[in-house]
Amino acid sequence: MLLLKTTLNKKRAILYLVIFAMLNTLTVSCWETPISREEHPPKADKKHIEERFAEDIKVLLLRNINEALLAIYSPYKFTQGNTILVEGNILPEQLLRYNNGEFSVGGKLLGSEQIQVVAQSNGAIELNGVRYYGNLLLLPDVDQGKGIGKFSIIELTDIESYIAGVIGSEMPYDWSPEALRAQAVTARTFAVYQRKKHADATYHTDGLSLAYQGLKKEKRELNIIVDETRGIVMLYNDQVFPAYFHSTCGGRTEDANLIFHQDSIPPLRGIKCGFCNTSKYYNWQTEIDKTSLERKLKSINPGIANIYAIQPVGIGPGNHSSMVQICYAGGTEEMNANAFRLLIGSENVRSTAFNTEIKGHAIKFTGKGWGHGVGLCQYGAQGMAEKGYKWLEILKYYYPEIEIKKIY
Ligand SMILES: [Zn+2]
Repeated sequence: MLLLKTTLNKKRAILYLVIFAMLNTLTVSCWETPISREEHPPKADKKHIEERFAEDIKVLLLRNINEALLAIYSPYKFTQGNTILVEGNILPEQLLRYNNGEFSVGGKLLGSEQIQVVAQSNGAIELNGVRYYGNLLLLPDVDQGKGIGKFSIIELTDIESYIAGVIGSEMPYDWSPEALRAQAVTARTFAVYQRKKHADATYHTDGLSLAYQGLKKEKRELNIIVDETRGIVMLYNDQVFPAYFHSTCGGRTEDANLIFHQDSIPPLRGIKCGFCNTSKYYNWQTEIDKTSLERKLKSINPGIANIYAIQPVGIGPGNHSSMVQICYAGGTEEMNANAFRLLIGSENVRSTAFNTEIKGHAIKFTGKGWGHGVGLCQYGAQGMAEKGYKWLEILKYYYPEIEIKKIY
């Protein structure tokens, strides 16, 4: 803990210096990100400077597990409060376990309370074969009541490293730099929003909110792109907002209110896209066996059997539906359309913009786009970039009425 605190204090001191230097030296001429000619690059805004504390983020990596494989390729420490439990120069791959209320690594007992795993070098910790930038927190039963003997692992890292990992997981790294810059600002805005919304929670975000695979897919070019947009977020009404994004809208993005029942604000109200028709997911169709559908749907209603129709309801201007009605022999079940898509499998039912027809023992889904359809359309962003639009123009197109701020 002491080591961690000292490290954090050092990091914080360095941050103060960097921010101070940036506030004093940042000028238009030193800004290297190519942006729209009409737009001036944002400077760090003093009013929002307190948000630099959002630089640290706690990401839930694994939840309710019994064991995981851990390796550390630099000097490291396992600590509990101020006590160093184990330390060493390198940790060959070992089994990390939580058994009978006690953590152990490589068979060595560590204790029952929360444990921190601190590596000297960023990116030295490997968990189940994936490298991570930050330090780890091992927490017994982070979701209470999910079973004794299980634990969860949270990574404490900084937002910029996290964003590099997210971009590497969310977008092909060889896409246009302008599309990747737009994606970096989008993911950062979403992460800062999550950080703010869950400020007092055990963790701020998880792998379900944004795909994140640590350093696994990260490329040097992505780090450069993320760094070029460092600290830049989108604001509406002077606030960060949940800047959703998805693969392909299929023609028009949808209102967050319809899909997620959130407040309808101009940046998340939906727009005509028109840039994603080269996406291989623009049109799709799939046939799914009824028994396979019923097996999955029984997890929400055990009575579902003999399905004879699946109907999208609450359809928005982009054809994405809010709810899905499942008609079966014993009645009708209505569920959130996005939850339905994720339950059945987003590789099959790619979006909620679909129609269905019965095909013997199967149901045929014919749809458009991939993802929930809210916010930035990634293929659309790539389409705009290929037509010469800059990242700021892309963002202002998909999120109308936003302001751009550099918050650290
Ligand atoms: Zn689109």
